[in-house]
Amino acid sequence: MKFGGTSVGTPEAMTRTAQLVARETRWPIVVVSALGGVTDMLLEVAEQAQRGEAYQELEKQIIGRHDAIIEKLGLGFGLIEAQYEELRRVLGGIFLLREVSPRVRDMLASLGERMSVRLLAATLRKMGHPAKAWDSWELGMRTDQRYTRAGVLPECYPEIEGAVARLQSDEIAVVTGFIARSIQGEITTLGRGGSDFSAAVFGAAAKVDEIQIWTDVPGILRADPRVVGNTSLVPAVSFEEAAELAFFGAKVLHPRTIEPARRNGIPVRVLGTFHVDPNDPDPRYLQGTLIDDKAPSEPLRAIALRKNVRSLLVRSLGMLEAPGFLSRIFEILSRHQVSVDAITTSEVSVSMTFDYWEGDLDAAIAEISAFANVEQKKERSLLCLVGSGLRQDSSLLGRIFAMLGDRQIPLHMISQGASRINVTLVTEPNYAIEAMKALHEAFFVSDSVYADRQMTSADALPAIG
Ligand code: ADP
Ligand code: ASP
Ligand code: MG
Repeated sequence: MKFGGTSVGTPEAMTRTAQLVARETRWPIVVVSALGGVTDMLLEVAEQAQRGEAYQELEKQIIGRHDAIIEKLGLGFGLIEAQYEELRRVLGGIFLLREVSPRVRDMLASLGERMSVRLLAATLRKMGHPAKAWDSWELGMRTDQRYTRAGVLPECYPEIEGAVARLQSDEIAVVTGFIARSIQGEITTLGRGGSDFSAAVFGAAAKVDEIQIWTDVPGILRADPRVVGNTSLVPAVSFEEAAELAFFGAKVLHPRTIEPARRNGIPVRVLGTFHVDPNDPDPRYLQGTLIDDKAPSEPLRAIALRKNVRSLLVRSLGMLEAPGFLSRIFEILSRHQVSVDAITTSEVSVSMTFDYWEGDLDAAIAEISAFANVEQKKERSLLCLVGSGLRQDSSLLGRIFAMLGDRQIPLHMISQGASRINVTLVTEPNYAIEAMKALHEAFFVSDSVYADRQMTSADALPAIG
């Protein structure tokens, strides 16, 4: 069971989460994120200290958030004093040196999860359930040294399996999401939102029968609720579809979550912490969204939106029929540690998008510009439609493009076919939002195909408590 930041962000949420854990009859391993907003605060306070600004106010707020839970739930003074002390010392160091390296940033960010696990374990104990807080590395999680985006090393999987097997089954393990240590022993983080991935790694190691992701929405929704407002729940999706949605912007799941689950054939269920009443679990809400390889197909499953994408259009007439044009471009990108998201090609041009790059995209562009015409756009959004109808029903694509055409939404790139269950469109940020709203309205609100599938609208799934 993995609980996100909002599920542990207040005394009330922490209590509800502890109740949900306690009522689980299968012995759970619990993975938690930092209290909602705390990772952002930790990263911000590091910046303040590094700039030599008065950072103490924010430091106090961070401690205050945790103290409020300790006090309200009577968890005992001093429970996470060691972490508070570390926070003060690291910030003092940053302030003194006016410098914060990625390594130090990770060390500081890790405090969020190291504090939250201790609060949740104490809350469970207070309710009479034996529980123990664990830092993920105590259970064998090791990564490479790519600070702020570290990758879990496959060779540590047997170690995690062993550690998980040795856990006492009469004591609930509450484990930090998001963080780990490198083999050199330094603290690392797995990338923002990475607790979902931690949960999948531990779930796979423990060979659980289900990995549950508990969050602040009742499951995976048809579209981003922050963009479309009211929307409805997707009852089931395939591993492949979930991976596409997560990768292309559905924040509810970290993109890497699916891989350990699929590899081990473990279903993932996304559930709403505030939609399931621990005292009266309504079976409807307990369904959430089930991700596995048995999801019945639907023409269109959901739409995801990713903002802040950069795109490149590379053209070279001189390359007509000359072999090696693409390989040359990819060799340069790979040398600069830039990986491509979506791509389309013609004989003399290539369009690509990038979301994150570890290396130097600008240097790569400069090199490519030496032999080709490069047009770069920094403000792009990527819209991704997912569903098996995109493979099976060509009229669906017709409807989608007709609708975007009616609204005069400019499309800078269209990519379809690789996974055959998605269509990826690149447009400008404002148009992407308009397109998501229009497509959502047409396919999920007005379309009768979905009317009977609409379990309930998010509106009819009120958060309780
Ligand atoms: P947690 O802290 O529990 O990990 P996140 O904030 O990372 O939660 O992810 C949940 C949020 O993802 C939701 O509150 C919602 O705003 C956003 N979201 C974006 N797209 C979707 C989608 N398709 N379905 C559900 N939630 C989505
Ligand atoms: N606390 C981390 C973050 O805010 C990890 C997570 O929430 O999954 O990114
Ligand atoms: Mg998350």
